[in-house]
Amino acid sequence: MIRIQKTSVIPEKLVRDGKNKRRSHCISYSRNPVAYRSGNKTFLFDRSIYAHISVKRSLIAAQYGKCCFCERLIGTDGDVEHFRPKQAYKQSTGEPLQRPGYYWLAYEWDNLYLACPGCNQRHKQNLFPLQNPTERATNHHQNITSEKPLFIDPGKDNPEEFIGFRGEIAFSIQGNPRGKVTCDSLRLNERSLPEARLQRLQQLKRLWQIVQLAAKQPKNTELKRIAEEAQEELNKATQDNAEYSAASRWAIRTKFQFVIG
Ligand SMILES: [Zn+2]
Repeated sequence: MIRIQKTSVIPEKLVRDGKNKRRSHCISYSRNPVAYRSGNKTFLFDRSIYAHISVKRSLIAAQYGKCCFCERLIGTDGDVEHFRPKQAYKQSTGEPLQRPGYYWLAYEWDNLYLACPGCNQRHKQNLFPLQNPTERATNHHQNITSEKPLFIDPGKDNPEEFIGFRGEIAFSIQGNPRGKVTCDSLRLNERSLPEARLQRLQQLKRLWQIVQLAAKQPKNTELKRIAEEAQEELNKATQDNAEYSAASRWAIRTKFQFVIG
């Protein structure tokens, strides 16, 4: 997981249609808050707005076609994910769904990311735990700035301050709760993720070994040339547009000591 810099130019579809839709959701809620809280009434969100091709394209560009959580390359296969869930939320997996969700943020640029189906549909779902659940904003009159989300927000936080990697395994730096909740809830050490990261890191380790070898044999010009190419590949792997770049950066920084094979 890495920091995501979204463009400050909000897609026009969200500005125009999203704003109108938001207004109509807020009016509906104000007319009958009890029905929305009990679940007797639910919002009909307009996917053609928040997941409009222009929105998706902007997210793909900002995230280099990668999932905002696991850094898997997904390109156009990703879902537009709401960081704060729009219809309902849960403080933890064992708890019942609370309604409504953050309906007033359904079309907010800051609340949207591109995520892989594994992270979004299977694991994050409606989960949105807070460090201070009593401060949760439960309707559009309340302010989300008092909330302290336990999920790392890649558009606001620098995930690399919270999550590190020992080889292919993600861990929360100094056991901080936000890193731990994000790793555990999104199953960042499960599914096919550790294996995919390990494969990537093993490839990079070979390149790194070539660079180390060349440094010990400065007179070997052929080796030097190969090592320069290897170094270039290593540099590319640490760029934000590379798959699993956070794990690659940690592996290089720790001289691949945790990468087996
Ligand atoms: Zn993912």
